[in-house]
Amino acid sequence: MPITLRLTPANGQEAAARRELTDFVERTSGQTLAACYQCAKCAAGCPLAAAMDLAPQQIIRALQLGQPDLALQSQTLWLCVGCQTCATRCPCNVELPRIMDALRLWAETHGPQPTPRDIPTFHHVFLKSVELTGRAYEIGLIGGYNLLSRHLLSGFDLAPPMLRRGKIKLLPQRVRARREIAGIFRRADEVRCQQTVAPAQKIAQPAAGGGDA
Ligand code: SF4
Ligand code: SF4
Repeated sequence: MPITLRLTPANGQEAAARRELTDFVERTSGQTLAACYQCAKCAAGCPLAAAMDLAPQQIIRALQLGQPDLALQSQTLWLCVGCQTCATRCPCNVELPRIMDALRLWAETHGPQPTPRDIPTFHHVFLKSVELTGRAYEIGLIGGYNLLSRHLLSGFDLAPPMLRRGKIKLLPQRVRARREIAGIFRRADEVRCQQTVAPAQKIAQPAAGGGDA
């Protein structure tokens, strides 16, 4: 269930750091945060909303209220699968997945590192699988994730029945447009390099108390 946002005051330095992050999100995502009027149609259609600590629109609300640290510390960033459902439902054409991408980019560069660490580990292994084969290669995905997350045997009991039923393949199925897909990843790396900002001042951790939103 979505939580109430607890607002925290900031001194001059912290306020500047928060503004820097909010500006980065708007610049990188190409979205105007003020365009969202909190109707929550995005959350109503989000397939992951039930598992999120902040609802998708609360991520935007935290940014609108100058509390990007709340958004950064949320697991919602790492649970969002970029399915675009929210963007197609939004009456204001807010591309929420792009906002999530910008926040993840910032978190990877400046922190805080998300917890549990398994979430970004899966994220990276999945992207590597798509980069190498052009699609998700489930056996490689499970193996890579288990190795890096140190849950060595997790999910392996599911592999034999899924293989038998043809749900997953033993060998990777490569798609034809691998060169184009490799180009997309190269371009993403270039954009990431261009958009990586100078080390920002550390965003203050929220303290207890403060107003609600
Ligand atoms: S649907 Fe659009 S306007 Fe409504 S809360 Fe979500 S992002 Fe904001
Ligand atoms: S893109 Fe993310 S926030 Fe939007 S509906 Fe899909 S999972 Fe939810």
